[in-house]
Formats: sequence, C-alpha cells, structure tokens
Amino acid sequence: MRKPTIKICRRKEWLTTPSYWCRPGGNDPQSCVLPGATLILFILPRKTIPVNKLWLILNYHFYKTILMQLLLRGAGLAFILISLASCKNNTSVAGGDAALAAFSADGLGKHIATLSSDDFLGRKPFTAGETKSIAYLQQQFAAVGLEPGNGSSFLQEVPMVNITTTAAPTMQVQSAKGNFDLKGLDDYVIWTDKTDTTVSFSNDEVVFAGYGVVAPEYNWNDYAGLDVKGKIVLVLVNDPGFNAGDSTLFKGKTMTYYGRWTYKFEEAARQGAKGCLIVHNTIAAAYPFKVVQNNWNTSRLHLDERGKDKKYSDVIGWISGEAAKKLVIAAGFDTTLFARADKPGFKGMPLNIKLNTTIKVKAQYNKSYNVIGKIKGTKYPDETIIYTAHWDHLGIGAPDAKGDSIYNGALDNASATAGLLELAHGFKKMDTLPERTIIFLSVTAEEQGLWGSAYYAQNPVYPIAKTVANINMDGLNWYGKTKDVIVLGKGQSDLEDILNEEATKTGRYLAFDTHPEAGYYYRSDHFNFAKVGVPALYISSGTDVIGKEKGFGQKQVDDYTKLNYHRPSDEYNGTTWKLDGAIDDLQLLFKVGRRLAFGHTWPAWKDGSEFKAIRKL
Ligand SMILES: [Zn+2]
Repeated sequence: MRKPTIKICRRKEWLTTPSYWCRPGGNDPQSCVLPGATLILFILPRKTIPVNKLWLILNYHFYKTILMQLLLRGAGLAFILISLASCKNNTSVAGGDAALAAFSADGLGKHIATLSSDDFLGRKPFTAGETKSIAYLQQQFAAVGLEPGNGSSFLQEVPMVNITTTAAPTMQVQSAKGNFDLKGLDDYVIWTDKTDTTVSFSNDEVVFAGYGVVAPEYNWNDYAGLDVKGKIVLVLVNDPGFNAGDSTLFKGKTMTYYGRWTYKFEEAARQGAKGCLIVHNTIAAAYPFKVVQNNWNTSRLHLDERGKDKKYSDVIGWISGEAAKKLVIAAGFDTTLFARADKPGFKGMPLNIKLNTTIKVKAQYNKSYNVIGKIKGTKYPDETIIYTAHWDHLGIGAPDAKGDSIYNGALDNASATAGLLELAHGFKKMDTLPERTIIFLSVTAEEQGLWGSAYYAQNPVYPIAKTVANINMDGLNWYGKTKDVIVLGKGQSDLEDILNEEATKTGRYLAFDTHPEAGYYYRSDHFNFAKVGVPALYISSGTDVIGKEKGFGQKQVDDYTKLNYHRPSDEYNGTTWKLDGAIDDLQLLFKVGRRLAFGHTWPAWKDGSEFKAIRKL
C-alpha cells in the first residue's frame, strides 16, 4: 500500500478539472485516476454550489452517497472524500492536456487532402489505390511512433475474392396476364457472391415474403407456411415497425438488424431460396435507387470463404418500387399488397410469376489488408481498446456529369482515417502511456460489405474476450463546431454513458440519430465487433452548429447525402471545410478511450440490446 497523500481542491479547480474525479464505479480503486492522491479534501462554500450541480459534476453513486450525508448533516464548509488507498500516482490528466493539444485541424486536413487526392485513385482494394493507401498509413503509424499491431507487421492479410458480374441486359417476366421484360439497371440491379461461372433465374417462381423476416422475439415469421425452396423471394426493405409507424412493432421507426439488406439475403439463403429481390423504397432504405445502381455489373469483394456455408442466395439484388408494382399487378394484386405486409398475421404468397435471366461471373482471389498499429498497455497489455476507421472507398467508376470518374471519398472515409492518425498522435503525446493497449485499426473493404472488420472480428489479432471496446468512426464533421454529438444506436452500451459524461464536461450534449430508420448502427465496421459481443460506440457529427441558424447543420448533412455520398464529388476542399468541430469530436473520443485505458472497468451492453447475450467475459 502506498503512503497516503492529501490533496486539497478548491471549488474553481474542482469545476474546471473534472477529470480529477474517479470514474463511474469509482469505488473500485483500480479505476481511480486522481493524480497522486489517496485522501482528497474539497473545501467549498456550501451556499454557492447548488446540490444539483454537484450531481451533474459527480454523478457517481459512491460520492453521491457521501456528499448527500454530509450535506444533510449541514457540514457546510468541508467535504471529505476518501479515495481508497490504492488510488495510484498517475499523471494521465496532465498528460491528457498535452495529448489534447496534439490534435490539430491542420494536421487532420493534410491527411484528408492526401488520402482523398486523385493520386490515391479512390482507394479501392486490390488496386494501385490500395497500395498507396496502406503504404501511407504504415508510414504515418510508424512516424507517430505506433508499434506494429500484428506481430512485427502493421498489416493483417484479408483473403478476399473479387467477383465481377455481368448480368444480361433484361429479365423476362412470365405471368398469367402476359409476358414482358424488365430492364437491368433501370428496373432492377442484381448480383451474386457465387463463384460459379454462371448463375441464373431459369423460369423460377416468385414468392412474396413480406419483409423476409424471422424474428422470434417479436413473434414474427414472414416465411411461416411459405414454400420458397429453389424459388425467388420478393421482400420489402426495412422492417414492419417502420412502415406501420407503430412504435410497439419491432422498434418502430428505429431500424433493427432485420431491416438491413444483408439480413434479407442471409435469411433468404437460410430458407433455401434461390434468389432474393428487395423492393426499393427511398425512405425505407434511406438512400435513393441511384446508390443501388452503383452495383450494376460491377466488381464486388467478399471474404474468401471457400469451404464454408453458403451465406446468400444465388442471385440477389434490388428491384425498383415501380418495377415491383408491375410484378404485383401482373400477379393480379393491387398495390396495397405491400402496405398490408406490415400487419401482424400477414401471410405472403406465390405470385404465379416466373423470372428468367442470367449473370456471368468471374472470380479472382486476392488479398487486401487491414492496417493495424498499437500502443502497448503498461499494466494490462492483454486488454485492448480498438479504434477503427475504414481506409477504402469506391475507386474509379462511372463518371459524373463533369466527367470525373475518381470516387475520392474525402468524407467517406479519408476524414476518419485521418482522424485515426490524429488519435494515435494524441495518445502518443500523453505523459503517461495507457495501462491498457490501444489499437488503431484501419480496415479494408467496408464499402463492399464491411469485410475488413468482419475478417478481423472472425480472426482477431487480440482476443475478443479481452477486447474492452470498439470506437468506430466513419465520416467526420466538415462544417464547424457543434454543441451536440450524435450517438448512432441509442441505448446500446455503457460507452454511451461515458461519452455523455465526457461531452458534458466541455458543455456539449448527446443527441440521437434523427434517421433511426436508416439503421446506421448496422452500417459500419463497429457492427462486426457488436456481432461478436464487443461493446461498440459509433457517433456521427452533431448538427447544432455553434453560431449558425437552426437547421444549418442538418442541411449540410442532407446536402452531402443528396449530392456527394458515394459520388465522385465527395472531395476535400481546404477552403470550405471547417475541421474544428471534427477536432472536438476526436478529442471527445480520445477521452472516452483514455478513461477505458486507465480504468479497469468493462463496459457492457445495455438491457434490450440485441448484442447483450453474445458478450461472455
Ligand atoms: Zn464509410
């Protein structure tokens, strides 16, 4: 046991340096970061600090209890907080200040400019753009002073297969009301993850299967009583709760994993369906059909899973809302059929329609790379906190109206990849290195299906059971400082509470996803950590922009989605981008990681999270 020391804090200091306080669960001496103190005296005139303000600052049950007792006794001038004897000498707070100062908008902007430059060719895996991207990241990791994160290497090989599909230009529809053709790209977009040389619909029957959902916890089974083996299922995007506008159905407007397209294809395969077509709807999908069309006759990456179970049906894809209506009408239904599918008890049915088309497939096996660096923990090196940001984007594709064919992906995701470098820089500037290991993981092939993080989660370099948390970034703020920070996946894990406490200390507040129907929590790399039970935090840029009128921030976000998301125009502009808000967000995520790194607590999934049952420590 160390010799007890005494620290006296005055009110001002108390209010301005809240990180002197122990963390939630602060009665666990291991989690105390108080520098050099084992006994702390707080001298403060009772009248000047309202009790509720104390709660706000402290918010830790242990101290609450003691303070409450003292207040009730009218102790008035002095409160004594006893921080248990093993609170250790730790200069992380002072080190934290140096670390915070290390984050710079200039530095961030330079990394973004480089990674999103035309030189990097849109950073598509397997291309010269990948070679440049991973070389840059390795060089920057080393320059910052990170250790290689995978043995002696900064790289983790990700074995993948590049599947190039060439679909026939049309699909023939046979129905009792006559035959007609649907036009590829305009009416539907299909592909496959099969590596055979040809896959097809050969006059296969179509079955409408509602939302294509089997969710026992919601007592919902769209496949009950339907024979879909070897057939094509037509399903709706999102989940029944969304369209019904009923908050008691599923999670109402908040998308569950059942609403995601990946889920639909996985479930269709489990049911033995040969094909799965999702009916597109811009609101329910949260993106326009144009985004889907980017998948037409292109190359897609998948993990090389030769010898493993088949994941998706043979032919998968989307059909436009208009084309789907044509099918329904040809089948003799009216267009209310889809609206009825969100009613409990709805039963799907065969449409007595047959489809015919083919896709030629070329498969090339290759390796892409995750880039991984670390700062080894001084006390609990086996316990890791993993920051992630995907380095990849879409490469070179169809030119836009200006003839630009390089998909630079400045926001998505050069920005957060640059953020990862700033975080590494910040952590290395701490006077005292973290007690737990911090991992900086820049993953590949997010855009093609979150593959790099999926591979890491299935083949972890650091054991999943000892992975404390994942903090993921995908797109940073480019329009200035905000008061709020938006949590995607509200109420998922304790990490949200830590984030809230850290945000509050600098006068910021948490806001929540305004588009919970978009299911953003299932759409970036942290999701693969969640799937294996690691509590995962995912935030996006706030919209309450300081000094701007209401609505300004949301307009920036909406305009980006409409004009630049997954388009060649997602480019960096050093003049118009204001990165001071991104720096605030990075510092906030740094503080969350720092708390975990100097603590010995294990954040957990909250009750009601679909991932809680998976985590076993
Ligand atoms: Zn992204």
